[in-house]
Amino acid sequence: MTDCLFCTIINGDISVNKIYEDEDVLAFYDIKPRAPYHFLVIPKTHIKTLNNTNDEKLLGKLILIASDITQDLGFADKGYRVVMNCNKQGGQTVYHIHLHCLGGRVLTWPPG
Ligand code: C5P
Repeated sequence: MTDCLFCTIINGDISVNKIYEDEDVLAFYDIKPRAPYHFLVIPKTHIKTLNNTNDEKLLGKLILIASDITQDLGFADKGYRVVMNCNKQGGQTVYHIHLHCLGGRVLTWPPG
């Protein structure tokens, strides 16, 4: 989708600090980190919100890739959070689904 920021990143027209990529997903460090570790895992297919998919395999893959990356980066055992914001009241600002993964500090609950 041409007017989607994350599709532009997937196409390589905007560079990111990439962590992982395969045929289905891309993971990269968030440009405005909210924790010492903060990265995003996004599907390569354009999906606007979590309400617009029932692709269990792809959604499961996003979570498992995030978990694998926490292992690779060495903070899995200390703890982390994965979260997907959905629509305006859920805090979504980029309308191409993305899983946030945050770690490296104590995370409070509930989030704001
Ligand atoms: O869940 P939400 O839609 O608010 O998250 C979008 C995320 O995308 C933000 O954390 C923002 O910092 C990140 N972002 C990014 N690189 C960009 C634009 C946004 O990492 N070029």
